[in-house]
Amino acid sequence: MQDNNSVIIFDTTLRDGEQCPGASMTLEQKLLVASALDELGVDVIEAGFAIASQGDFDSIVEISKVIKNATVCSLARTKERDIEVAYDAIKNARRPRIHTFASTSDIHVKHKLKMTKESVLEMIAKQVAFARNLTNDVEWSAEDATRTDMDYLCKCVETAINAGATTINLPDTVGYTTPIEHKAMFETIRNRVSNIDKAILSTHCHNDLGMATANSLAGIAGGARQVECTINGIGERAGNTALEEIVMAIKTRNDVFPYKTKIVSENIMRTSEIVAKASGFIVQNNKAIVGKNAFAHESGIHQDGMIKNKETYEIMTPESVGRNTHLALGKHSGRAALKDRFEQLGYKNLSDEDLKILFIEFKTIGDKKKNVSDEDLVKLINS
Ligand SMILES: [Zn+2]
Repeated sequence: MQDNNSVIIFDTTLRDGEQCPGASMTLEQKLLVASALDELGVDVIEAGFAIASQGDFDSIVEISKVIKNATVCSLARTKERDIEVAYDAIKNARRPRIHTFASTSDIHVKHKLKMTKESVLEMIAKQVAFARNLTNDVEWSAEDATRTDMDYLCKCVETAINAGATTINLPDTVGYTTPIEHKAMFETIRNRVSNIDKAILSTHCHNDLGMATANSLAGIAGGARQVECTINGIGERAGNTALEEIVMAIKTRNDVFPYKTKIVSENIMRTSEIVAKASGFIVQNNKAIVGKNAFAHESGIHQDGMIKNKETYEIMTPESVGRNTHLALGKHSGRAALKDRFEQLGYKNLSDEDLKILFIEFKTIGDKKKNVSDEDLVKLINS
């Protein structure tokens, strides 16, 4: 496993993200998203689940042809036919990866796979080796890892690495784990699996309890060096870990998370908009990093502080994620913000008396409307 502090960003917007109800995209939209992800600097693009449908297969083929930098990956169950089809879809990529998975928790093995634990181990050994004969880059995932018996999980991981897996992903498939638990799981795997130095560990979290980002960061602290995530956190049920949150948490709190990624953070906002448009999933206003209000300051005290020095209320700059600060003017805004906006609009020499009157009128408009626009202000000053 990598000793360094580089974290691989594995984006699954086009697989786990697209899989959620209502998010399906056309081939054209998928190509647009994939190109944006490549420009954003993600290391791996999971382009789809090749055997799931002809449409999925075709889009993985097309994405493989156009992507210049990132590794392109297809998901496959731990079955020969799935793996063959996945390989067919990605074989023309510059850097192809097969991502194969099998359930490992008691509840999944018994009720979903209807197999014994021994036969699951045999299947992992055989099919991971089969995948590795097709390509050098093979990821194996233990579905429902966070609810899997630890002894058995260690055996599965060891078996997959022996068979040639180069990345081992331990997903919190059902969004059940907590940060402390998640970190401990990775530490235990690193301590107990004898061949663990031959693979990179990966974390894949879901947001059912609102902890996907926190859990993923804890996974990194425990030794994971790949994070699976999606733009805007889209994905099954409550969604996946949001790429933009992981990247900006590492960047903003590098004192606590001393890692690095290859993401060009200035491209985050643009990519978020492309994904929102393609998937039809509107980003909530208060979404961290990419929500409409994520950098907006409306209350008077905050706006006054922001005008004097941005660091008073800003932990990262909006420019660092490719957007501008939006000082929203509304009924909570103060006089300093109003004066500042008037100055930006060219009204530079307002007397205190003028401003006093304008401020009263401004509050009246603010009571009626949610946002007071520049147009409203120009009308106000001209009246
Ligand atoms: Zn998932």
